[in-house]
Amino acid sequence: MLVDTHCHLGDARFDSDRSSVVERAIASGVGHSIVVADSGPAALQAMELAAKFGLSATAGVHPHEASSWHSEVAELVESALSNDSVVAVGETGLDYHYDFSPRDKQRDVFRRQLALAVELDMPAVVHAREADDDVIGIIRDSDAKIVLHSFCSGRELLDLAIERGDYVSFSGMVTFNSWKDTEAVCSVPADRILVETDSPYLAPMPHRGKRNEPSYVTHVARRVAEIRAVGLEQIHSDTTANAVRCFGNRVDPC
Ligand SMILES: [Zn+2]
Repeated sequence: MLVDTHCHLGDARFDSDRSSVVERAIASGVGHSIVVADSGPAALQAMELAAKFGLSATAGVHPHEASSWHSEVAELVESALSNDSVVAVGETGLDYHYDFSPRDKQRDVFRRQLALAVELDMPAVVHAREADDDVIGIIRDSDAKIVLHSFCSGRELLDLAIERGDYVSFSGMVTFNSWKDTEAVCSVPADRILVETDSPYLAPMPHRGKRNEPSYVTHVARRVAEIRAVGLEQIHSDTTANAVRCFGNRVDPC
């Protein structure tokens, strides 16, 4: 059984067939999925979906949405984090590729969410894009347990995460022909590696370019097993045990 540790099941692209998407995941051996929020309203929606389908949720504000962070959103996120279905803060982080929110605002909102993660003793799901130096600086100052999601960063950030005992999650990007960083996939200790889809984005081969969905995390697991030269069963049991250790018993598909 696999756990998709990061999907955006609330995305409008699932509006027409969300129940079938969840059924297909289960039928494919993806026994649990974490519905990740990127904004205050998305956190409420993620909790609803988690309740409806027996999944888990996160609550937090994506760096793209950092500008939306004000006291009401902070309160909404904090109250969501006390809900039983919510297993992590996030997704948070820094994205200097799109710069949809000013960088100083991104850093401020990232720090605040890491502080919440520490306070509530929950993991923080971190998105890092073209911002490694600042992510490194901010993580170094925090005691939060981190999940580097859809890893596509440089060696320094990876080494820091490994040294800190953080978790590193790989997405469908590892199945692309353009993915050259096999070393990163091999470097993460067996007790710290996770898999995810980040659906509806980043569909793995052979579905690249189409809508992604949680059942496709099987393709990610297969490619990770191939790169690490270990059996697929090993990747299934390792990544699922890691997801349970990181996010708690709620995500246990067994
Ligand atoms: Zn995401």
